[in-house]
Amino acid sequence: MTTKNIAVFPGSFDPVTIGHEEIVRRGLGLFEQIIVAVGENAGKREFLDLALRVALIRKVFRDEPRVRVESYTGLTVDYCERVGASFLLRGLRTAADFEYERAVGQINRAMNARVETIFLLTSPRHTFISSSIVKDILLNGGDASPFLPSHVTREDLKFNI
Ligand code: ADP
Repeated sequence: MTTKNIAVFPGSFDPVTIGHEEIVRRGLGLFEQIIVAVGENAGKREFLDLALRVALIRKVFRDEPRVRVESYTGLTVDYCERVGASFLLRGLRTAADFEYERAVGQINRAMNARVETIFLLTSPRHTFISSSIVKDILLNGGDASPFLPSHVTREDLKFNI
């Protein structure tokens, strides 16, 4: 078989953090191509608009031809089929992440058993980093740069307070 092993890394990335960046870079050791798929999360209020979230992630991986960044709507497993991906990549930080991801992963598998979910454990130094914490720091005028990929600057983050 010569099919490329492609993984989709789905999320809201609102905004992208060094935790996300690390999972993608490590994933490149496992997959030939990674598609970072930026979706709407019905349960979360949007901080940065979708186009800006995509643009920021493209900036982070602009020198990495094996990473593609797209937005998507609909079921993640349907998106995997559309782009020919056999793997769904997710990052795990805590037991709470695990409980949530277990449910989502099992439901995704029930819907489409051709797509396997693969989890990478975050590095200990990134365990506490989440988009919502970074968002709170930014909204309160703090310095979020230690948690943002080095390509992302304060000026890139155009949000309305
Ligand atoms: P979602 O809204 O789908 O949870 P997120 O953008 O919050 O999207 O997260 C996307 C993926 O990145 C998830 O698998 C999440 O567990 C993972 N992730 C988020 N923050 C980190 C981090 N600090 N280290 C490792 N993985 C992370």
